[in-house]
Amino acid sequence: MLMQDPKPVFKRILLKLSGEVLMGEGEYGIDTAVLARIAGEVQQLRQINVEVGMVIGGGNLFRGAGLAKAGMDRVTADHMGMLATVMNSLAMQDTLERIGVFTRVMSAVRVNQVCEDYIRRRAVRHLEKGRVVIFAAGTGNPFFTTDSAASLRAIEINAEVMLKATKVDGIYSADPFKDPEAVRYERLTYDEALARKLGVMDATAIVMCRENDIPLKVFNINHHGDLVRVVCGENVGTTVVRE
Ligand code: UDP
Repeated sequence: MLMQDPKPVFKRILLKLSGEVLMGEGEYGIDTAVLARIAGEVQQLRQINVEVGMVIGGGNLFRGAGLAKAGMDRVTADHMGMLATVMNSLAMQDTLERIGVFTRVMSAVRVNQVCEDYIRRRAVRHLEKGRVVIFAAGTGNPFFTTDSAASLRAIEINAEVMLKATKVDGIYSADPFKDPEAVRYERLTYDEALARKLGVMDATAIVMCRENDIPLKVFNINHHGDLVRVVCGENVGTTVVRE
């Protein structure tokens, strides 16, 4: 259900979902109930006219570094990781379209029988027409992460904010699942987030946000309604900014 008369403070956002979020309580793969719930929240953003770009990770299926550890060639492993993000993106597209939200998947590697190639100007046009654009296959290059892809696409589409959806309520001084003393930060600078090596996002992604002055908000996607709350400027999660 929508909050009472929600007013967005951003017109265009980039939402980063990790593959892990899609697993729900499982240890692998996609929980369709989780997909449906998140799609419902994205639909609410469209109902208040927020333009939504999304980047979805692939860690619920394959991670290049993990496969490489088991002996696989790293570049091949990263190709598998990128293709995993395409599968997740198609799953999210299907879920969104079943509830009437027009969506395009645009891939950084060519798989153009299943989705569009990523072309920046076309992506912006889709957003202007109110379509949710899901950017698949990360940056298209091995040795990068989908966090970096999210920063890159956020900058390219002129998103006003990058929202990183996680399983914790924001950035903590330590891992809150392991350390009961961990405290949540409401606000941090990019440099603090980098210096404290908080592990919430890779350094490349944070540096790209810093260099392009894109605020980053980290919040818990498992808290129902927090996505809309963040977009409406409520004090949810952790904000990472210049000052
Ligand atoms: N990947 C890549 N280049 C990119 C983005 C992703 O090679 O630009 C690969 C990499 O192997 C990574 C996998 O895709 O492990 C899945 O992405 P990520 O680990 O970022 O997913 P998440 O942790 O968000 O689920």
